[in-house]
Amino acid sequence: MSYLDELFGLKGKTALVTGGGRGIGQTVALGLAKAGAEIAIISRSGADETVKLIEKEGGKAYSLIADVTKEADVDKAMAEIIKRSKRLDVVFNNAGVCIHKSTLEASIAEWREVIDINLTGEYIVARAAGRVMIEHKIEGSIINMASMSGTIVNIPQWQASYNASKAGVIHMTRSLAVEWCEHGIRVNSLSPGYIATPMSVDTPAELKNAWMPLIPQHRMGKPEELVGAVIYLASGKSGYTSGSDLIVDGCYTCF
Ligand code: NDP
Repeated sequence: MSYLDELFGLKGKTALVTGGGRGIGQTVALGLAKAGAEIAIISRSGADETVKLIEKEGGKAYSLIADVTKEADVDKAMAEIIKRSKRLDVVFNNAGVCIHKSTLEASIAEWREVIDINLTGEYIVARAAGRVMIEHKIEGSIINMASMSGTIVNIPQWQASYNASKAGVIHMTRSLAVEWCEHGIRVNSLSPGYIATPMSVDTPAELKNAWMPLIPQHRMGKPEELVGAVIYLASGKSGYTSGSDLIVDGCYTCF
């Protein structure tokens, strides 16, 4: 076994990636598979393309249809993972949405939709995964997708529901991390800056042009630039890292 495999290899482990059908989730699922994990993917519309990409690289993956806001869907998916993989070691709790609207324009239904998917959905998935890990005595790692928007207010677009949901994810992460120390389960969050994915690529050019001077690296990040961070948090070598928020934002939040 190489030194890097010893440090970060995930052979024999099963990783769940929510929202792994496209964007960051797809790229990270591929990365976790390359590190040796078997991958289970949850999304509402399926992740056949991601499964094919992983299999093409010699990895193992399967796709489950589930809405993270629905407890029954998530419980069914967890039962299926245990049936198929016999274990759950890593969760990349990534599914999320964003609505750009000013507070005066946005409806309460839109606020609820964003909070429901981004915050309550991650809570439902983390709670179900925590139960499975505790029941199977697995000292797992849960990585919740937050955002730099959990600590700063983006401009010029308005997205109060998104910002609030991600701030909630960061503090929920700390709360679960402390609560589950006694079970050896680690919980961390990842806070990217602007990453080029379907969520952000369709953003109007004038908005992206307004972002660039605010990013000290003057570019959006690539999904590939999050893979190493997730593998680090997923691996046993981050055993003393729990309750942390790992910021990967090209220096956006430094000033
Ligand atoms: P995408 O829109 O490209 O992908 C989102 C994924 O989430 C899709 O696979 C979607 O699948 C899934 N999803 C959405 N709602 C649900 C649901 N209710 N149940 C299950 N799956 C769901 O987004 P990104 O890859 O850009 O973003 C991924 C995460 O990263 C999000 O949490 C986002 O907030 C966060 N993030 C993104 C940044 C960026 O700049 N792109 C920056 C910082 C954080 P389906 O619709 O089929 O269910």
